[in-house]
Amino acid sequence: MTSLETLLEKARQYEEDLISFLSGFVQIPSVNPPGDMSQAAAYVEEFLGKWGLPTRRIEPEKGVITIYSSVGDGEDYLMLNGHMDVVPEGDHDKWSIPPFSGRVVDGYLYGRGASDMKGGLSALIYAYAVFTQYVDSLDKKLSLAAVGDEEVGGRLGSLYMAKELGIRPRYVLLGEPSTLGYYNIGEKGIVWYRVHINGEPAHASVSPYVGRNAIKMATEVINRIYGLAEIDFDVPEELLEVARKSGEKARKMVGAEGLEKIFFRLSCNAGIINGGVKTNVVAPNCTVEFDMRIPHGLTVDKVIEMVRERLSDIEGVEIEKVAGEDPNYTRPDTYLGKVVEESAGAEAGIRPEPSLVMGATDGRHFRAYGSEAVVYGPGEWERIHGYDERIKVDDVKLAYRIYLRTLYRMLVG
Ligand SMILES: [Zn+2]
Repeated sequence: MTSLETLLEKARQYEEDLISFLSGFVQIPSVNPPGDMSQAAAYVEEFLGKWGLPTRRIEPEKGVITIYSSVGDGEDYLMLNGHMDVVPEGDHDKWSIPPFSGRVVDGYLYGRGASDMKGGLSALIYAYAVFTQYVDSLDKKLSLAAVGDEEVGGRLGSLYMAKELGIRPRYVLLGEPSTLGYYNIGEKGIVWYRVHINGEPAHASVSPYVGRNAIKMATEVINRIYGLAEIDFDVPEELLEVARKSGEKARKMVGAEGLEKIFFRLSCNAGIINGGVKTNVVAPNCTVEFDMRIPHGLTVDKVIEMVRERLSDIEGVEIEKVAGEDPNYTRPDTYLGKVVEESAGAEAGIRPEPSLVMGATDGRHFRAYGSEAVVYGPGEWERIHGYDERIKVDDVKLAYRIYLRTLYRMLVG
């Protein structure tokens, strides 16, 4: 059996190839929407084929492709997971380096998807290829999924795999950009809903004595709903510490006072308002659309119920749920998380901490089917989905070596 030292030694020779692979990957505009992954999928397929690794194409809808590969046998296996799709690049003139150049300048590789998340995915793909190449007689299973449908929700990517194909690994390691000092074990939930307010029209000249103005009522509705964002909720005991630390991290990163409470509270945004018919008519109707992110311990249904209760004494109010997902998490003491911590410690002297995030990753789709999902990957947060997205080349290489150590520990011991 190859020793860890030998594996890491062998791995060094592929570091520059890894960066060229990433550059080529970024040059493929796998933008979603529209979400045609043909070119990106062929790129990954070809690479795995060259390394003699099996590939399976999962294509629930034409062009929406996931490349899946696995070696070895066993039930309690580990999956490496990353998405190939990227968000639209926006106005090319706002980029100082073209969005699909994959160019390296001063130690950073630039382009849409560099951080989110072709950098992490490339590191996972290389770790998978090199590990399976040099560690023989593996008696456990390991798999890799380069998915094609993350940026629009994952229904035809990771969710499809878990739900329709029954691909439900014990552990999933996702290479989304958590930055190397943290790994994510849980995500807040989300709910979108509309509040429809029905008033009573009248002539403007006799207002506010006659009629009931739905726009005026909306101000009361909005204030009451924002009040929900001032309540501290109870998160599950085992998440207390992580929720507190994640809040501190968020406050520091964003630089907004109060944000440290975000993992104990609902966020609240009234994003769209529509109402009224004419300036001289007392508004007979108004609709306000809300987005709330849900802390662990609450559910979508519970939030809707609280909103309903808050507004119950206002006549003519209806609440319409538009979309929602409950919060999700993997236990903070998950073995995979501990291995990632130790691997990062041994490789780089960093001790990544478990944390919660406000946004969603594909981890939630596997958690829903019992997997323990850990999100750990390189990237630069500030420019994700923005202009001049980039990733530090050294971070990609470092992530690759940390992944190799993680694989060794998980599969060999
Ligand atoms: Zn992503």
